[in-house]
Amino acid sequence: MEIDAAALKPKGFFQQVETDKFSLRLCMSGGTMDTTYVRKAIEIAEKYGDSVIHLTSRQQIEIPSISDVNVEAVLKMIADENISTFIGGPRVRTVLACLGASVCKFGQIETSGLAREIHKLYFGQELPAKLKIAITGCQNNCVRVEANDIGIRGVGHGYLFYFGGCFGREIRIGKTILPVLKDKKDVLKVIEAAVAFFKTNANKGERLGKLLERVGIEPFKKHLESVL
Ligand code: SF4
Repeated sequence: MEIDAAALKPKGFFQQVETDKFSLRLCMSGGTMDTTYVRKAIEIAEKYGDSVIHLTSRQQIEIPSISDVNVEAVLKMIADENISTFIGGPRVRTVLACLGASVCKFGQIETSGLAREIHKLYFGQELPAKLKIAITGCQNNCVRVEANDIGIRGVGHGYLFYFGGCFGREIRIGKTILPVLKDKKDVLKVIEAAVAFFKTNANKGERLGKLLERVGIEPFKKHLESVL
C-alpha cells in the first residue's frame, strides 16, 4: 500500500524507523487529560498499536506502532470522537501547564484554565516559526517556563513573564522584561501583543529569542508596555 507520509504529518502521524509504521501524537492542553480521552487513546493503542503509550515532554500522548494499513481506520476513529491531534511546523504549539493553585498547595496562580484559554485563542495559528507557551504555578517551576518562547510563572499571586526561551538544537533561557502582573486580563493582552509582534517582525524560521537578539529587547518591551 502506497502511503503519503508527508501528508499524514499535519494530521499527527509521524513515520517511524520502520517505514510502514506511524506514531500518532494526540493533542491536549492545560496539563490535564480528561479520562474519556485517555480511555480512547488506550483503545487506539490496544486495537491498532503495540498496547503502549508514550507521554511526551510537552504533555501529549503519543501512540506508536500504528501500521500504515490501519491509518485510515484510526483517522476515522479520532474524527468520530472529535479528538485533536498534534500540530507541528511554524505555528503556536500546545500550551503547557502544571496543576497550579487550584490543586497544588504551592501554586500562586491558576494555570490549567489559563493555559486552555490561551490554547483556544492561539493554538495552530500560523507564524514565521514555532511558538511555545508554558505556565507554571510557582518558583518550583515544574514545567520549566524559561525554556519556552513565552513562559509565565506564578509569583506572589501574580504573573511573571519570560520571553525568548527555547530548548532543543539551540538552548536559550527566556528573559523577564515586565514587572509581575496582577490581573489576568493584562496577561492575555501581553500574549496578544507578543504574538502580534512576533508575527510582524520575525523572519521565516526565526524563534522569538533570536528575533529579540536581532532587533533588541527595547522595541518589544515598548510594544508590550503599550497595551498595559
Ligand atoms: S510549579 Fe509549583 S504550583 Fe505548579 S505543580 Fe509545581 S509546585 Fe505546584
